[in-house]
Amino acid sequence: MPLIDIRQVCKFYKTGGTLIKALKPIDMQVETGEFLAIFGQSGSGKSTLLNMLGILDRPTSGEYFLEGEDVAGLTDKQMAAVRCRKIGIIFQSFNLFKHLNILENVMVPMEYAGANKSIMKKKAAGLLDKLGLGDRLKHLPSELSGGQCQRVAIARSLANDPPLILADEPTGNLDEKTGVEVMDIFKDLVSEGRTIIMVTHNNDYKDEVDRTVTLKDGLII
Ligand code: ADP
Ligand code: MG
Repeated sequence: MPLIDIRQVCKFYKTGGTLIKALKPIDMQVETGEFLAIFGQSGSGKSTLLNMLGILDRPTSGEYFLEGEDVAGLTDKQMAAVRCRKIGIIFQSFNLFKHLNILENVMVPMEYAGANKSIMKKKAAGLLDKLGLGDRLKHLPSELSGGQCQRVAIARSLANDPPLILADEPTGNLDEKTGVEVMDIFKDLVSEGRTIIMVTHNNDYKDEVDRTVTLKDGLII
């Protein structure tokens, strides 16, 4: 059974009087442990596809099975619950909580899952330590570099130990060297058995992943 199985997934946006066909239709299977990169020009539907995979949004039509579970027709509450357990999401602009220190940032998804506070703290500190930020736990995101912020976001994505990590242009705001560091972290996570799907523009990463998928005008080419 593939980790991800999407069939004939379409996503249309209605804005004003126009219908934008962002995905039309997509079939995709991803196996556990794969490192997949999604390429495509701006506006080709990459973020829309990642939002579907991340259960951040529902497809207009089509089916989505995650670990065999039908997740296309869930309520908002059910979507959030599945996302919390199964998916870690990383964004280009980090999306950290500005007023929380980095330890608290990593604890947010655990709080949502309802873990015990001291266990959460220990686990969050352990993840940040693993990502080289063990001596910065009380720092605010504004006190860190972009690369360090992205490492916090990676730690946070791992908080509930999800099988699937999604990343939308995770190196887009980073310099080349820092981007390579993020890629190295991803490769380590894949070697530990996680599945990563990453949207990127960087052709240098083509050889670093197991497989690439290219989108054009809402279709896989
Ligand atoms: P990419 O990430 O490849 O740049 P997107 O998935 O963001 O592409 O966008 C695909 C298409 O869908 C674009 O035409 C974009 O303008 C449109 N689109 C994306 N999100 C929305 C939205 N929330 N409402 C309306 N149109 C959208
Ligand atoms: Mg995008």
